[in-house]
Amino acid sequence: MVPNCHFIFFTETIDSKNTRKTHLHLDTHRMDYAHTFPLPSTAILREVGLRDGLQNIPVLVSTTHKCQWIDQAYAAGLREIEVGSFVPPKLLPQMADTAEVLAHANTLAGLKASVLIPNLKGAERALEGNAHLMLLPLSASHAHSLANLRKTPEEVVAEMARIRAARDASGRKTLIEGGVGTAFGCTIQGEVKPADVLRLLQALLDAGADRVSLADTVGYANPRAVSELFEQAMKLAGDRFCCAHFHDTRGMALANAYAALQVGVTRFDASLAGIGGCPHAPGASGNVATEDLAYMLSACRVVTGLDINALLRLRAQVAQWLQGQPLHGALWRAGLPKALGHAHDR
Ligand code: ZN
Repeated sequence: MVPNCHFIFFTETIDSKNTRKTHLHLDTHRMDYAHTFPLPSTAILREVGLRDGLQNIPVLVSTTHKCQWIDQAYAAGLREIEVGSFVPPKLLPQMADTAEVLAHANTLAGLKASVLIPNLKGAERALEGNAHLMLLPLSASHAHSLANLRKTPEEVVAEMARIRAARDASGRKTLIEGGVGTAFGCTIQGEVKPADVLRLLQALLDAGADRVSLADTVGYANPRAVSELFEQAMKLAGDRFCCAHFHDTRGMALANAYAALQVGVTRFDASLAGIGGCPHAPGASGNVATEDLAYMLSACRVVTGLDINALLRLRAQVAQWLQGQPLHGALWRAGLPKALGHAHDR
């Protein structure tokens, strides 16, 4: 018997005349099993181009343009946007205006503006700026953690506890997300064990994270690994599991998002025009492109509330601001198919 996929397998027989016959069988038990996993009816996209995307782009985007970007993303239906990060401006000049950009985002009714914070100092600035959410990244790869954050994963967990204490003392409602990155491997260490990822996810929850998420920081994930790890992560964190973050470094991001969707993930980070890249892989694409993911979800009848044509117009605008920089994604080349030409699945 040769198993060909989940539900179909073949057997072979050879009769008395030595004729070989192939028989196709359907495993109806497994087919039924598959149907117990319908896709979620809605999903949320969190735009991270202004942070994860821009942080890898040398062209400085002005505060005015960043605010216009947010306005247009909001008009296209996005209600969650990561607007920047509170890292030292010397390290990342592109993020130096995060406080102003956050203040602008907070003027838009119902917009949940989030920021990345590397430590307690960043958290204090996020609390000061009244961010809806602050995301503390933790790298499950010990080597990547030391190289990027100059801390071990355990030291980041300890920082999470300090950040939680500061948030509680501040009286602010800012949510704290612990994002476990390099969850599927890393460019320095190579393999990252799922058991380590899950242990650190639990440690972040125990240290006071309101929510946790998983990130394939360097594009090592594949749909099978995504199904397995996200299922475990969601079992562990329950409704405190909040988001999937995929990079398209090796063209797997949409397939990975679909695999995560199938196990019940309903929030995805995405970056307009797939900007971002990876400092360790020159020319590599960045996050899954917002407009492509919005299109895939819409085509699969998963409601996102997004106006895909408005996202494509914003993409064209961003392309002008980022002249000369590599942009990614596929939808913009051919546009929407006719059947979805008026896609606006509010
Ligand atoms: Zn990322």
